[in-house]
Amino acid sequence: MHQGGCRKYLVGIDLGGTKIAVAVVDTVGQVLQRVQEWTRGEEGPERVLARINCLFDAALAKAGVSAEQVAGIGIGAPGIVDWKEGIVHNLTNLPGWRNVNLKERFEQRYSLPVAVDNDANAAALGEYLFGSGRGVRHMLYLTISTGIGGGIIQDGRLVHGAWGVAGEVGHMVLDPQGELCNCGNCGCWETISSGSAIARQVRRRIARGEQSMVTELAGGGEIKAEHVFQARQLGDELAAAVIRRALLYLGVGVANLVNVLNPERVVIGGGVANVGEVLFEPVRRQVRELGFGPAARAEIVPAALGKDAGVVGAAALVWNMLQ
Ligand SMILES: [Zn+2]
Repeated sequence: MHQGGCRKYLVGIDLGGTKIAVAVVDTVGQVLQRVQEWTRGEEGPERVLARINCLFDAALAKAGVSAEQVAGIGIGAPGIVDWKEGIVHNLTNLPGWRNVNLKERFEQRYSLPVAVDNDANAAALGEYLFGSGRGVRHMLYLTISTGIGGGIIQDGRLVHGAWGVAGEVGHMVLDPQGELCNCGNCGCWETISSGSAIARQVRRRIARGEQSMVTELAGGGEIKAEHVFQARQLGDELAAAVIRRALLYLGVGVANLVNVLNPERVVIGGGVANVGEVLFEPVRRQVRELGFGPAARAEIVPAALGKDAGVVGAAALVWNMLQ
């Protein structure tokens, strides 16, 4: 152990609406130790920040890494983030986070370089540097879970746009007459193709009297997207119809993005993408059919970082900043 003052580790903080995870990560994206806790966001920012500090100390202690060995801290947060200043403006499912300067708070406390960005951008950079995006220069990252998030890498750089909104693909309107979204618009992509959209559509059709084995698969509890995919596997017609439509629009949305951005590779992660080929096959088909010219050649691949996407992505933010 002759690491001495050599700063070869990163700390990645994934501040989520439900959970906070903190990990010590090395500079090739391997997680040494990871600790997590419920966010309990209703207690307000100060309590949450205190909780992050505890997790930070616990992660370093478990990894046997001293603060002197840490090169920097990366933080991914859900919502609108001023990535240049490191200020979070409005966090999804976290009340009271208005204009909190995370970068300054952490720089002052730890005297280390700090990078802050939204969680999907962090995960995109994580996949680009350490996961399924390695080897390309132009990559689109998508996460399909309760919502749909995205991050864009163009020529090796994360694209933020003028005001940090670039990559908010979940709010592309694909059906102006469609369902109301949390954002106030109707027919956003995530109201059609996300996991919660799939579950909601099935719940609604069952409530209207349609038959489906999804009800039994959920065991009387809340119907989730995973139950719908299970039912489809077992030949359930309602589940198959809802999934067919969701994945058709998923493919159309990806093809639109491929035509706008011309990525070499599209990396898809998030809980819903764990269903595998059931999801990837129709997306690839739409991209081949609708891709304009050579854009149709974009590879469509699963994400590699899995449950560590948040913390490794956060670590990637600061590693990228230090390069
Ligand atoms: Zn929306």
